[in-house]
Amino acid sequence: MNLFIMGAPGSGKGTFSSRLKDQYQIDHISTGDIFRKNIKENTALGQEAKTYMDKGLLVPDELVNKMVLDTLRNLPADSKGYLLDGYPRTLEQAKAFDEMTKGTPQEVETVLYLDVPNEVLNKRILGRRTCPNCGEIYNIYFKPTKVENVCDHCQTELTYRADDNEESLAVRLGEYDRATRPVIEHYQDQNKVVLVDANRDFEAIWTDISANLNS
Ligand code: AMP
Repeated sequence: MNLFIMGAPGSGKGTFSSRLKDQYQIDHISTGDIFRKNIKENTALGQEAKTYMDKGLLVPDELVNKMVLDTLRNLPADSKGYLLDGYPRTLEQAKAFDEMTKGTPQEVETVLYLDVPNEVLNKRILGRRTCPNCGEIYNIYFKPTKVENVCDHCQTELTYRADDNEESLAVRLGEYDRATRPVIEHYQDQNKVVLVDANRDFEAIWTDISANLNS
């Protein structure tokens, strides 16, 4: 099963990706996570990506396409498919990906599109806090901790992503509208898009997603 999961920042891509990965045993590839790992390890790719990411801008297509292709080539031989999260983000990336995978078993089959209104996205993102120790994710509006800014499970002080600030978010949502909507239209023309109303509780959304994928 080869999937793209798409949606604006804060639409729940990360949450549903973990569930999809567990349920269907496919390889989860998050371009944002790969960049963050490279930044942490201070690689050349990380240093270049950071200059764009800190401002909420997209990393240039050429760099991302190459990184995704390398990752796909290195999937285990017995891989049951992939779940690409955060890619393709531009029409150029989509076309390059189609071209790279055309006629191979790695062509994308389904594009899940998580649809959430912008005002909800703002609260989801600006309220997001993560425990750097156990990985638990909180939200100051929707899922607060018992003690302010301290993890309920391991009492570690919570952190937030460097690009989860108001200024950067406005740019990211603008970029999303400008660059990524055409990608959805591109795959709608290929009848591959499954539109999911993602402004509901987890179970309702998951029921929709799994029903679509199992059919
Ligand atoms: P994400 O974790 O998916 O929200 O990605 C965080 C940041 O990484 C984005 O704001 C971009 O700067 C960069 N990034 C991730 N995926 C891509 C992509 N497919 N194309 C360009 N930039 C990307």
